[in-house]
Amino acid sequence: MEDKELYRIAEKAFENAYAPYSNFKVGAALLAADGSVFTGVNVENSTYGATICAERAAVAKAVSEGAREFSKIAVASSGGGAWPCGICRQFMYEFSPDLRVITGDDEEHLQAHSLNKLLWKGFRLEQK
Ligand SMILES: [Zn+2]
Repeated sequence: MEDKELYRIAEKAFENAYAPYSNFKVGAALLAADGSVFTGVNVENSTYGATICAERAAVAKAVSEGAREFSKIAVASSGGGAWPCGICRQFMYEFSPDLRVITGDDEEHLQAHSLNKLLWKGFRLEQK
């Protein structure tokens, strides 16, 4: 799947974000090795600390459905491009250190980096 197509799915996903506190809506579209796409949105909470990001929501949804290997994730937000936070980088690294991470202000201005670059020497058990 092309980066642009995955990004468009992430863009559509953020419409469902629950972000009454920040008003910063984020959507993620995660492409699994088998071609399945799992979306996620940020889900904020009145305690703030219980908030979950769109990327982790997508990974949790995918893992819940049995997926374990991922090739790409696209992230879109109501504020334009949004790189994953540190917690999400580690969360994704658990499954796919070589994950291609894509974001940008719109589909014509996408940037992509390998998760290995965004989380250099991330922590991971070797038996995946
Ligand atoms: Zn995050």
